[in-house]
Amino acid sequence: MSEQRRIRVLAPRLANQIAAGEVVERPASVVKELLENAIDAGSRRIEVEIEAGGARLIRVRDDGSGIGEADLPLALSRHATSKIASLEELEGVASLGFRGEALASISSVSRLELVSNVADDPTAGWRVVAEGRQMEPRVTPAPHPRGTSVTVRDLFFNTPARRKFLRTEKTEYGHVEEAFRRLALSRFDIAWALRHNQKGVHQLPAAGDAAGHERRIAALLGKPFLNNALHLDLAAGHLRLWGWVGLPTHSRAQADQQYFFVNGRVVRDRLVAHAIRQAYRDVLFHGRHPVFVLYLELDPTVVDVNVHPTKHEVRFRDGRLVHDFLFSSLHRALAEARPAERETDAETATPASEAGPGVREPAGRWQQQPMALHERREASGEPVTRDRVRAFMDGYRALHPEHEETLLTPQPGAPGAGGAAADAALTERRAAQPPAPPAPLPAEDATRAPPLGYAVAQLHGIYILAQNARGLVVVDMHAAHERIVYERMKAQVHGGTLEAQPLLVPVSLAASAAEVATAEAEREAFARFGVELDVAGPETLLVRQVPALLSDADVEPLIRDMLGDLERYGRSDRLEAHVNELLATMACHGSVRANRQLTVAEMNALLRDMERTERSGQCNHGRPTWTEMTLKELDRLFLRGQ
Ligand code: ADP
Ligand code: MG
Repeated sequence: MSEQRRIRVLAPRLANQIAAGEVVERPASVVKELLENAIDAGSRRIEVEIEAGGARLIRVRDDGSGIGEADLPLALSRHATSKIASLEELEGVASLGFRGEALASISSVSRLELVSNVADDPTAGWRVVAEGRQMEPRVTPAPHPRGTSVTVRDLFFNTPARRKFLRTEKTEYGHVEEAFRRLALSRFDIAWALRHNQKGVHQLPAAGDAAGHERRIAALLGKPFLNNALHLDLAAGHLRLWGWVGLPTHSRAQADQQYFFVNGRVVRDRLVAHAIRQAYRDVLFHGRHPVFVLYLELDPTVVDVNVHPTKHEVRFRDGRLVHDFLFSSLHRALAEARPAERETDAETATPASEAGPGVREPAGRWQQQPMALHERREASGEPVTRDRVRAFMDGYRALHPEHEETLLTPQPGAPGAGGAAADAALTERRAAQPPAPPAPLPAEDATRAPPLGYAVAQLHGIYILAQNARGLVVVDMHAAHERIVYERMKAQVHGGTLEAQPLLVPVSLAASAAEVATAEAEREAFARFGVELDVAGPETLLVRQVPALLSDADVEPLIRDMLGDLERYGRSDRLEAHVNELLATMACHGSVRANRQLTVAEMNALLRDMERTERSGQCNHGRPTWTEMTLKELDRLFLRGQ
């Protein structure tokens, strides 16, 4: 039996070392704390120097306010801070630090030197050193320009157990760089530099405008990030959300490249993560992760940052409101990522060339296009019938006899003009707005062409080639049409306007006993999706009606897939949550199949549909539906004008 131990107050050094366990996990945590201090000191320029992944040396120099001679010993002692003085000040705290334990903790597990100067006279600095156990550091004069340099050597030299947990230099440096990246992303107005083993890694000038912001994003996250991101800036009440979100087609296998800042503080928060995941749910391929750099700004008094020692988590006073704001802002931004007019060449070329070689064009291929309200309603799918399509086409013919040959004559191999419902779906947009004048032919005015331009040809029955004002557009017609059918069905089902179409000849289907049981049990669900299904025998089903949008689909595989989905989702009352999945399954059957010959009119109708359809930039599986090659890019291919 062990001897009874008396209770004692911990020696300060031991207390600090215990606290260091929470705050100082590895070199990167030291870098984070030192950088936050430099930011809090109002620095305009912060330089970081690292050796051996940070285990040997971490040095942070800043040009901030500095620490006065009298305060220097205090800076290294625990619970000593200049940032708050009362509990009231903690509510709504704007500084990154406030706990007053970082320097004390770090100095208890390393050899720390701090040189600082509050005056403009560069000879007037002071220096303190702490070597792990030395808790009352001596202050000696040392020249230093206005600002502070903190040098941390031999991290964990006196706590071998912790040192054993350090990984390879490369791994530790990776974490250091990530800490640097986060903070450099949090403050565009500060200039930053990072060196590792005497080599410059990042040199980031202060950035005051959008182009500067994007240069920094590209430097820290790579150009592909920026070229595939939407810029957004939205406000509602006292909330503002701005930054960059990656297109669903630019998702990643890992959840890296996800940066979220709340009032300038890097945050990994479950509520935030959930809202973002929800917003991408409909457009992201399963198991992929979106990329984003987002800044949420709100009144500091409605968010509690003191819920975790490293302050990575926050608590919102009105979490529901923040969640809804994030979700709806991102959901809308992603929905509106549609083909849009890019700025003209002249506009995009100037900043890019001014910025010098190697600098990307501003993200312009995709832009947020606010949708007019009437357009919204219209896009959300009025029921369309073949009759309306025909009526429209007749009207169109009467108005434009000159287009008869080029646009309306079915191409050889194409289905009859009035026959297939796929045609109806394709030309629906025209039908839905008979009074609108038909789009002009390319020859009439190429510069006013719509964003996706006009079809010029179909390639191998898979791709549509179109010409727009900027160059060549290539569309994966199956993927694009699938997305359009899906969005339209979604709007119809959720809006209660799904139009069904009785089959002229009901289709009889051999079915398993389980399928028959599902069909019987899910009769109502089928009806809701516009399908009428009868049990015609113990192993026979009879399909009497399908949604009008799918009347051209192959009925049997469609019904089998629906049976499969309903068996999975329906019984367990989870159908509501899976309505969109079911619609996606259905849409897949309703879209134009590869190798179907389309007329020019059909192709143009599809292009116009894409321009109007939300989320049409990617198919239901998150793959892109179209791409563009500008004349400039084509010229480059052929070395023209070089
Ligand atoms: P906290 O940041 O929570 O206040 P720290 O232990 O990180 O605690 O720092 C203690 C104090 O030292 C700070 O409150 C600040 O007054 C001072 N300090 C630390 N680093 C700097 C710096 N780079 N420039 C100016 N003052 C600093
Ligand atoms: Mg601090």
